[in-house]
Amino acid sequence: MLRHVCIWIVYSSLVLSFASFAQKPQVVALQYHHVATNTPAVTSVTPEVFREHMEYLNEHHTVIRLKDALEAIQQGNQLPQNAIAITFDDGYLNILENGHPILAEFNFPYTVFINPLSIAQRRDQLNWEQLKEMQPLADFANHTLDHLHLLQRENDETQQAWLNRVMQNILEAEDILEQRLGYSYRWLAYPFGEYNEALQAALAKEGFVGFGQQSGVISAHSDFTALPRFPSSGRYANLDTLKVKMAAISMPVARVNPSDNQRELHSKLDALTIELLPGQDDLRVDAFACFFGGERIVPNVDGNKLTIALNHQFKAGRARVNCTAPSRSQASRFYWHSVPFFTPTEKGIYLD
Ligand SMILES: [Zn+2]
Repeated sequence: MLRHVCIWIVYSSLVLSFASFAQKPQVVALQYHHVATNTPAVTSVTPEVFREHMEYLNEHHTVIRLKDALEAIQQGNQLPQNAIAITFDDGYLNILENGHPILAEFNFPYTVFINPLSIAQRRDQLNWEQLKEMQPLADFANHTLDHLHLLQRENDETQQAWLNRVMQNILEAEDILEQRLGYSYRWLAYPFGEYNEALQAALAKEGFVGFGQQSGVISAHSDFTALPRFPSSGRYANLDTLKVKMAAISMPVARVNPSDNQRELHSKLDALTIELLPGQDDLRVDAFACFFGGERIVPNVDGNKLTIALNHQFKAGRARVNCTAPSRSQASRFYWHSVPFFTPTEKGIYLD
């Protein structure tokens, strides 16, 4: 009898450990802007570095269409292990000139978030014929009409007038995409990655999926009004650090407090709390590490709830808290979640 119990214990612990190996469908989305040598360094990768990234992906990952990834995740279907989606913001001509040939060589699909009012209107922008030329490898989606700071209010604008104005901008951009391209996915990449709760709710009501610029991995656990992407340009283009992000695992977050990412100038936030979904056997809560403004913070862990002491007064601009925890079963892979904050200046201006 005792022997049976022992075998049963061994068997069930094996089942449990296998269960922790089974990765839920997820995709890592990379975010690029320019592929060029003569553009702002902070939003650029050189064609050489871009090729290096694509060669690495070709060796170690499966690059899939963002559309296929989102559908699989939303429908609970399987995705390849190490699935990656490639995205660009802003519709620069150098994506076609320098990025597309490399992507075509590897047959890697990609998505470009564009500003319809800028298309063909600036020398550094793609035109509509070129967009057609980039299909079928490329999908195009919404980055607002004109790349505005969505959270910025006009003088004396009420909350409702603000929300109506920005939603109209987004819906008009979507209409132009549909007219010009013949399809409309209702995906919005927030310019500068900036969003707040009111905007997220309005977008969800209109059936939109939102994409931010905070790091993390897309899975069924994600908030589909603010999906994470890993910035992969400028100082984030270094493959040694980028490959750790390419291998990241979606952190199973149940809720975050505060839930609104918009902050008032000089407002104080003593602590950020992140509550994980229960039953995390594989995520090493004991080895959690968070970073804020270059400083490492060890969270206080209470069951599934992490409290990250920030003791922070917000200055104008963007800030974010990045948290990682190693996987128990897969050495060198990390669960990843990032919480961004957006703060205007005294005059209510959001900085570029
Ligand atoms: Zn942009």
